[in-house]
Amino acid sequence: MFDTIIGQERVKATLISMIDAGNIPHAMLFAGPNGVGKSELARAMAAGLLCESGTGTACGACNGCRRAMKLEHPDLHVLFPFRRRPESADSRGQWDSEYAAHRARLRDEPYPPMAYGQSVMIVRGLVDEVRDRLLSSSFEGGRKVCLIFLAEKMNAATANSILKILEEPPAGVHFILTAERVSSVLPTITSRCAVFRFRRLRQDEIAGYLETVHGLDRERADRSAQMADGSMKQAKSLAFEQSGDAMSRAYDLYTAVAIGTGDTVIEASHMFLRSRDSAEAEELLTGFIHCTRAVLARRCGIKQNAEVMSGELASVAMRPALSNLDRLSQRLEEGIEMLGRNVAVTTVLTATLYHIHETYHHGRA
Ligand SMILES: [Zn+2]
Repeated sequence: MFDTIIGQERVKATLISMIDAGNIPHAMLFAGPNGVGKSELARAMAAGLLCESGTGTACGACNGCRRAMKLEHPDLHVLFPFRRRPESADSRGQWDSEYAAHRARLRDEPYPPMAYGQSVMIVRGLVDEVRDRLLSSSFEGGRKVCLIFLAEKMNAATANSILKILEEPPAGVHFILTAERVSSVLPTITSRCAVFRFRRLRQDEIAGYLETVHGLDRERADRSAQMADGSMKQAKSLAFEQSGDAMSRAYDLYTAVAIGTGDTVIEASHMFLRSRDSAEAEELLTGFIHCTRAVLARRCGIKQNAEVMSGELASVAMRPALSNLDRLSQRLEEGIEMLGRNVAVTTVLTATLYHIHETYHHGRA
């Protein structure tokens, strides 16, 4: 069941040896960047735990495995971030069907290129329901598994609802959590979990998958993989979705501000004067982070990433000190966090463009 999951050999080997030893932790946290296979491996692991063989390894053929892989097993409980459930019965129907559609996509598409907005959280009411089901006896008399995708999207009140079971799980209950950053998950939760760290995927792993599974031609697969920063989700979104445009817009803007004068910065900021679109701003900032990483990679002699760089950006790549590039990356990450705290889009973008310009003109006339 692990075979369809790309890379992550170390995590897989550790899990397999734990399964073989009959020593599967009650709570596991799969941590690592977006789009590297955490949810996919979590689901395969859940299938193993619910396999009728009882061994912990999924046979792939039994009813238990198949229903678990389809997220349909009655003893498999799945939580993921979603917008708040409406109070009124009128709007509940719409919410229910959108929630079901999202769940179906998680089930049907490996590495689905989905982004979660900053304000989207794991729904409290659903956590309470899962808690009650984990405390009652299992439907099939075997193990019960709770998958929590993006555990950092649980606030303290929500996490508290499930914490007691996480601290002292009843026999046969297993939790598998995923998170992009361990530090963003409440320490009361992480302290109970065995943590497994996932790595970014290699370009050849991503390109190979896009080619064999999605039938992309070699060139397009390579180009998407090069810009994907080790994330299969990012690669798929670059290859198949609109955000490819957002990414090239970010790239053009970044290059213009890096090579241009102060006036370029003023002109560029002017475009965002009345913008309130924080999703667009987040896409741009993500693009800027990729550009900065590409420049850093070139400076460190990593050719693969640098190949996508235009001559213009390459011409200024040697200007900034490495420490300034590093600081720029941090500033851009902070910018994304500020958007999450509802700081005005115009303020964040203007400051960002200024930082990019400063980084490439630091110490110059
Ligand atoms: Zn099975």
